[in-house]
Amino acid sequence: MIYARGHPLDFDQWRQMGLAGWGSADVLPYFKRAERNWRGETAHHGGSGPLKVSQPGVKSPIYDLVSSSAEKAGFPKSSDYNGAEPEGIAPAEMTIGDGKRWSSARAYLRPALRRMNLSVETQALAAKVLIENGRAVGVQYRQRGIVKKAYADREVILSGGTYNSPHLLMLSGIGPADHLAEFGIPVIVDRKEVGQNLEEHVNTAISFDINQPISFTDHLRLDKLTLSVMQWALFGTDNAASFPCHIASFIRVRPEAERPEIELLMSPVSPDVQIWFPGIKKPVPHRFSSRVAVLHPRSRGQVRLRSANPADPIRIFWNLLADPYDLETLRLGFKAVRSIFAQEPLKSVIAGETAPSAGIESDADIDAYLRKVCMTAHHPASTCRMGSDENAVVDEQLRVRGVTGLRVADCSVMPHVVGANTNAPTIMIAEKAADMIRGKAPLPAIHI
Ligand SMILES: Cc1cc2nc3c(=O)[nH]c(=O)nc-3n(C[C@H](O)[C@H](O)[C@H](O)COP(=O)(O)OP(=O)(O)OC[C@H]3O[C@@H](n4cnc5c(N)ncnc54)[C@H](O)[C@@H]3O)c2cc1C
Repeated sequence: MIYARGHPLDFDQWRQMGLAGWGSADVLPYFKRAERNWRGETAHHGGSGPLKVSQPGVKSPIYDLVSSSAEKAGFPKSSDYNGAEPEGIAPAEMTIGDGKRWSSARAYLRPALRRMNLSVETQALAAKVLIENGRAVGVQYRQRGIVKKAYADREVILSGGTYNSPHLLMLSGIGPADHLAEFGIPVIVDRKEVGQNLEEHVNTAISFDINQPISFTDHLRLDKLTLSVMQWALFGTDNAASFPCHIASFIRVRPEAERPEIELLMSPVSPDVQIWFPGIKKPVPHRFSSRVAVLHPRSRGQVRLRSANPADPIRIFWNLLADPYDLETLRLGFKAVRSIFAQEPLKSVIAGETAPSAGIESDADIDAYLRKVCMTAHHPASTCRMGSDENAVVDEQLRVRGVTGLRVADCSVMPHVVGANTNAPTIMIAEKAADMIRGKAPLPAIHI
């Protein structure tokens, strides 16, 4: 539910790669068209789109402490990381509206369900794109044990996500010819990069015990939580109507960097917190915690077929930290968090860093620790890379190269993963795709 778009330079890099229409000024009108921001319409934000974006509705104990300490540690404050101040310690923005998770299904699909030209099939596993004479004409799918086909008058659009869109392309004969041959899949287009270039925001978490009862733990006592849930159900407010990640920040950890290299997501609660009640289950100690994510990883993973059976999950190789730059950046981010928590006023609140990272000091020890505990951020991207070059999977209109009538519109087309959580940028891609599919001219660029 974190709403983050990415730095303007992320998209300017896409445009510099030859992708006309994807620079920061080109994508801004689409972010705005999608958005209904709590600020209303501004130069940077949309005020009437389908996607509701809000700030946490509860007073956060962590924001003031962190932003003051971070300033002393050399990190600026930001009042709007999706607007004029993309760098700095900022309050999180969330795709939450009326106390509910404002998913793309809630924002876009449900309001359209009554349309005569929309039919939604559930429990349906797309198994293959049907291709005749070099043109995608439909999709074969399996629903409750029955194989069915759906035909397209105009185009087939894949939106299966970073793992499943390349899966479906490969099952359909579009992918690396030698790999498809291993599974006896007839090759329609030899496209080597399908499933390649997988990018992920490698990240870790760091937690600190605090010496004051100001964490979110108190709100998770069963009786208090029950009241919160009732308040949420009746009025859409209180702690159960939000989620306790109160700070989303994009910071530079190398002075010479052009754009932030690290994202921090900070919560007044430990990641392993649980519901508790005296005499039944003990509370987790009061803690603050931070996620630390590398925004522009250089390691590349891939997805590969396990078999030719569509029901078999794809094999995912992340190769996290394969490139030394990623490990160094993660270490610098880890140390940046420690430096923030070592400043007042946070310093007086902190009782100590929690195990297992406590006591790990040398760069070599930190690296060994990070190698052990690092994880994905659930932001996989780029396995159907958009590019102006011949090897790219889709062109700047999201059309699969080598077949007609077939587009991909999801997170997999990002030429590089954006330096932010990937939901909002994927919705922006979908907004642009909608205009492309309907043959509409792109919205006029907004230069700020
Ligand atoms: C746990 C978690 C937390 C996250 N938190 C955030 C966050 O706070 N902020 C943020 O910005 N991003 C977050 N993300 C990332 C965000 O959800 C993704 O970037 C975004 O959903 C990508 O959209 P997509 O359309 O590319 O793919 P998806 O949202 O994955 O959509 C793909 C859809 O295709 C369907 N599908 C796939 N294969 C088939 C098939 N063969 N047949 C039929 N249907 C198929 C899937 O069921 C799915 O509904 C999070 C992700 C996870 C997993």
